[in-house]
Amino acid sequence: MNIEGIIEKQKDFFHSNQTKDIRYRTQQLKKLRQLLKENEVKLYQAIYTDFGKSMFDTFMTELSLVYHEINEAIKNLKKWSKPKRAASGLFLFPGKSYIIPEPLGTTLIIGAWNYPFQLTLIPAISALAAGNTVLLKPSEIAIDSSKILSHIINLNFPSEYFYVVEGGVEETTTLLNYRFDKIFFTGSSQVGKIIYEAAAKHLTPVTLELGGKSPTFVFADTDIKMTAKRLVWAKFLNAGQTCVAPDYVLVESSIEQSFLQAMKHELEMRFKANALTENYTRIINTRNFDRLLNLIDQSQIFTGGITNRDERYISPTILHRVSFSDNIMKNEIFGPLLPVIPFTNLDDTIAKVKAKPKPLACYIFSKDRKKIIQILTEISFGGGSVNDSVMHLANTKLPFGGVGMSGIGSYHGQAGFNSFSHHKSIYEKPFWFELKLKYAPYTKRKLSLMKWLLK
Ligand code: NAD
Repeated sequence: MNIEGIIEKQKDFFHSNQTKDIRYRTQQLKKLRQLLKENEVKLYQAIYTDFGKSMFDTFMTELSLVYHEINEAIKNLKKWSKPKRAASGLFLFPGKSYIIPEPLGTTLIIGAWNYPFQLTLIPAISALAAGNTVLLKPSEIAIDSSKILSHIINLNFPSEYFYVVEGGVEETTTLLNYRFDKIFFTGSSQVGKIIYEAAAKHLTPVTLELGGKSPTFVFADTDIKMTAKRLVWAKFLNAGQTCVAPDYVLVESSIEQSFLQAMKHELEMRFKANALTENYTRIINTRNFDRLLNLIDQSQIFTGGITNRDERYISPTILHRVSFSDNIMKNEIFGPLLPVIPFTNLDDTIAKVKAKPKPLACYIFSKDRKKIIQILTEISFGGGSVNDSVMHLANTKLPFGGVGMSGIGSYHGQAGFNSFSHHKSIYEKPFWFELKLKYAPYTKRKLSLMKWLLK
């Protein structure tokens, strides 16, 4: 299908005003939910082919989030799209002020491969809920997932409303030549810059959901066993191929050994017997497998380090005796390798974290309010959890996004609706009263009255 033609059709369709109708939007969201339910088996199969990932994990980390987002949007759509009153003040009497959320128009959503359904469908749900048309470009790297998405969407939705374009760099580069009313991108900071630059040519607003090295602080007063349980789950979910995965651990040196032992014990409980079975996800491709292999310094392996290139399998691996200057600390790991760095001085450690680009997430395990507040105040990051990891992402009431190099803007729930809306500010006035003050001829008396009114 000709891309230019589809974009033109989407623009015309948007201008027909059909998507402004809340009932239309609700119907389309219900239709999407129904289609996903009908095709669930195919969706599980595609993720299994791409990642060797279990049905349980796919439901928990992909479909359940998508369903939840659709349900939230359907439930709140009327409320979110209603004009909101704003105070006017004495000078504007007897007028009223209000804000109308309006759709932006034709939107482009570009996804990453690591959660190919939720990273494309959740922004699409927000965009459709807000009354936009959507052109969706999933990552070409999760091959089967991209295929099934385009199959389901393109067969069932009119292309002038919602259409999936498959492809990689070349196709995305072509798409970026066109003028969209919004670009929503999930991916690396490196490609984020390309997207931002292309969008700037048309002054198109962007949301950039990027990555980064998310630190985890573990303090001596933590519940070590529970910390290990929650961290092992969060880090090795999807074999560490999660944008908000704890990238590295900073542990107070007094508990370093007991923490490492607790992590090893937890890993044995979760994965030892079945690491090569379907309970543990594979690395997406050999390019990423090789990249990760290069990050493993054999002398630093505390536990794990078992690999199988044919299976694209890297066992959950914890590295110790790591320092900030090591290779593994340079870029986002995005795989099942967890470096652990001990620390004694918190201020120095915070300074080292702050010397790196602002991360997407940060996690703190401690019972000490002062330390928790110090980190929350001193380190800038997208979002995070205290005494847990990754789970902040699961709350649609929390805007999800990065800051600095980890992103621009946010989504999930109403934040998603807002990021695909323009908030049109209106002041409306009746005819029955007019304050003469602002009109010439200006007098001293008028000026002093004006000063009193506008102080
Ligand atoms: P990526 O940046 O390589 O690719 C993302 C998308 O951009 C893909 O659809 C790809 O086809 C396209 N693309 C790649 N190169 C391009 C180019 N030169 N020009 C135009 N388009 C291009 O990212 P990825 O490898 O798919 O995902 C991994 C990264 O995404 C990690 O950094 C991860 O942290 C981040 N991520 C962030 C979030 C978040 O919500 N903040 C979620 C998932 C992943």
